[in-house]
Amino acid sequence: MKVVLDNLTVSYQRHPAVHHVSGSFAVADATAIFGPNGAGKSTLLKTMIGALKPDSGQARLDGYARQDIAYLPQQSEIDRSLPVSVLDLVATGLWHRTGPFGKVGRAGLGQAMDALEQVGLADFAPRSISALSSGQFQRVLFARILLQDARLILLDEPFTAMDAKTTFDLLELVRRWKEEGRTIIAVLHDYEQVRAYFPHTLLLAREVVAWGRTEQVLTDANLKRAVDTAAHWQDRAAVCQVDGVNA
Ligand code: ADP
Ligand code: MG
Repeated sequence: MKVVLDNLTVSYQRHPAVHHVSGSFAVADATAIFGPNGAGKSTLLKTMIGALKPDSGQARLDGYARQDIAYLPQQSEIDRSLPVSVLDLVATGLWHRTGPFGKVGRAGLGQAMDALEQVGLADFAPRSISALSSGQFQRVLFARILLQDARLILLDEPFTAMDAKTTFDLLELVRRWKEEGRTIIAVLHDYEQVRAYFPHTLLLAREVVAWGRTEQVLTDANLKRAVDTAAHWQDRAAVCQVDGVNA
């Protein structure tokens, strides 16, 4: 199995958000994506799942079928107003086995309850998802990934605005996933979380600033370079319109 970025460039209206990014993610291990706001982190994940098309280059997820891949967007991008129960939402983690209109069945619902139990929300099964706190909702989405049994797990700022207990519990799930040989790639903003749970880091500022072992990537010099590179991109925004074609 391989998760490879090959000279990947992705633009919005010809402004590159991800620019000539190459490298491979450690398989069966956890990688943090770290970088300033607007560094292209979310764009990168969306391109990896096929929601955005590259201008050039490619993201290759070799050996992973569609159902092996779980993606959690930033919470701000999720609409929770649907009248769906917690259990129903978790059960959609089985769609790759049942099809969207298939019956989950008693066994499937049992597995969904088990997943909810593992994130400490068994009592919430019949509740509406709109009635949950953001921390509880994030636990529900992690339960869904548990049920899906995904081999490649992409998380976009999963702990932003989460309470400390939720963050800790879900980070422990990440640790377990890593031990189970799953590949985890997560956008994070907390230095300590990255150091404690993510052996690898991609430091991104539209371009790769550094990519490798976390302790070698998250140095003061590299972090400064990431900030400088991001600022430089802001300054060049108008120029990049043309650059997107020539680069
Ligand atoms: P990050 O997740 O690292 O904060 P993003 O990938 O969301 O960064 O954004 C990278 C750049 O692309 C930013 O300059 C952002 O404004 C721009 N961008 C993101 N999404 C869109 C969009 N849908 N349309 C136009 N520009 C976008
Ligand atoms: Mg983002």
